[in-house]
Amino acid sequence: MTGPMKQLGKSSSALRKRRQSLLGKLPPLEAVLRGSLIERYKRCGKPGCKCADGPGHGPKYYLSVSFPGERPQMDYVPQEDIEATRVLIANFHEVRTVLEEVCEINRELLRRREAL
Ligand SMILES: [Zn+2]
Repeated sequence: MTGPMKQLGKSSSALRKRRQSLLGKLPPLEAVLRGSLIERYKRCGKPGCKCADGPGHGPKYYLSVSFPGERPQMDYVPQEDIEATRVLIANFHEVRTVLEEVCEINRELLRRREAL
């Protein structure tokens, strides 16, 4: 079950307990990055280069970050930073998922007129 429905049927103290355990699973908040890693291949255009027959040289990695009403911003990510970048992006999703569930718990407690 997803969203608000999964909180229904739990006691308020179970919800508070769940909230506490969710907070314990938060990754370090400084280690987050919003965006996605994308792969790019490029043909160099040199005559006779083997890349002309394939997708091109690469992959090279870019961090793509979207902002409302703007085109995504792309930053080149060197090979040695790719794994760390993946971790930061995964952390961001984890933080967002945890916050969303904490918000749902608090919303349910509010509905029940229970202590937050
Ligand atoms: Zn080439």
